[in-house]
Amino acid sequence: MRQREAVHCNLIGDQWVGGAPTPNVNPSDWADEIGLYAHADASQLGAAVAAARAAFETWSVSSPQTRFDVLDRAGTLILERRDTLGQLLAREEGKILAEATAEVVRAGMVLKFFAGEAVRMAGDRMDSVRQGVDVEVTREPVGVIAIITPWNFPIAIPAWKLGPALAFGNTVVFKPAELTPGCAHALVSILREAGLPTGVVNLVMGRGSVLGDALLDSPDIDGVSFTGSVPTGRRIAARCAQATKRVQCEMGGKNPMVVLDDADMNVAIAACINGAFFSTGQRCTASSRLIVTKGVHERFIKAMSERVASLKVGSALDPATEIGPVVDQKQFESNLDYLDLAHNEGAKIVGGQKVKQATEGWFLSPALLLDTTPSMRVNREEIFGPIASVIRVADYEEAVAVANDTEFGLSAGICTTSLRHARDFKRRARAGMVMVNLPTAGVDYHAPFGGRRASSFGPREQGSYAREFYTIVKTCYTG
Ligand code: ADP
Repeated sequence: MRQREAVHCNLIGDQWVGGAPTPNVNPSDWADEIGLYAHADASQLGAAVAAARAAFETWSVSSPQTRFDVLDRAGTLILERRDTLGQLLAREEGKILAEATAEVVRAGMVLKFFAGEAVRMAGDRMDSVRQGVDVEVTREPVGVIAIITPWNFPIAIPAWKLGPALAFGNTVVFKPAELTPGCAHALVSILREAGLPTGVVNLVMGRGSVLGDALLDSPDIDGVSFTGSVPTGRRIAARCAQATKRVQCEMGGKNPMVVLDDADMNVAIAACINGAFFSTGQRCTASSRLIVTKGVHERFIKAMSERVASLKVGSALDPATEIGPVVDQKQFESNLDYLDLAHNEGAKIVGGQKVKQATEGWFLSPALLLDTTPSMRVNREEIFGPIASVIRVADYEEAVAVANDTEFGLSAGICTTSLRHARDFKRRARAGMVMVNLPTAGVDYHAPFGGRRASSFGPREQGSYAREFYTIVKTCYTG
């Protein structure tokens, strides 16, 4: 019998504190228990908020050099440990090793970028309209930030929220997704090892449904940065508005990828396969609607179907695997329900089969839904799995109309060799991010990330734009 590690604890102030031990299970192999992680209770949550509030007094006025040093050192430690952290990520979340390691590297780079932002933070000075008066605009930290993250990027998303929160002098109560506490625990441990003072980041693990309201309602929480589903995000945004707390929500997507008759077919197939199916399609930026003009539609579906059938599904830890497992039973069953729905709505399904492997896991082959129309539920609801549909359109104008016909607006892509169409699409796509001849997923850490409509609420994340959420402006007049 495998020996169990000690329970991984929550971090409250300078204490690692136990709680209800909860197993963390590998989606590629249900027999593999990664470890036990302590779920916090409401009183521990209160203590975490109090620790963050107390630490704010000194961290908020610490030298930018201090904040630079901690974030830069943490980034270095993450990069040095990319292989072990990548292994942990692949094991608990199920994305393949190459993607998991790349995510770890990204988290390291993100922390290094925000180390630099700490020393780059500057304000404005302007002449007053009144003689002899100076006007200064400065930026201050917001206060104690609650950071609530999802399971699909278990180290990169926490890094791109914790990085700016800490760089600009905020303190944090961090509640990671219940499915992926391992990466969160490792990240917080590394921040402490890098010299982060007591109480500046507090880790509380557990279910959002149990801890969420107490966290959001605490008067000591000044802002909430959330990434997750639309219903939870809307609920959080409404609750924060009611309590006049600053809030930032990144939610779902139903991202279109337009393929025009003049596209380079190799580029288009590569972008669609990557965008739709890599990371098992479990990305809010996944290309889930492939909108293809009629001149190239037959050729496209033939090439896509062949490529989809050739993708190797298997354990995330096997270097030969291209598509890892779905994250858990709930998500797996939801994918199967959507495949049933697609069938009932009249789509033709290529792939989408349960796959047997040497280990028991949530293996599903990628699915391409053909002969679909924009009004089908499979083209309107976010599926969040390895399932993408193809919609045939007459021409570019119809493609743009269908691409924008969604309640979401995160990322939108187009494959074309026409400069005119690329330029027009960049202008007309109703999305926060537009990709030309690239997958809808895959974004740079130094550029703003976010969407419109049901996809995002509040200021952008990442890059220099992150300061809009994590700092608050003060205008000072001196006579
Ligand atoms: P997903 O379906 O991807 O798990 P969720 O929106 O349910 O998306 O979860 C994203 C994050 O939000 C997780 O950390 C989860 O625990 C948390 N969460 C879920 N419900 C609530 C809630 N009512 N209040 C605060 N956080 C929540």
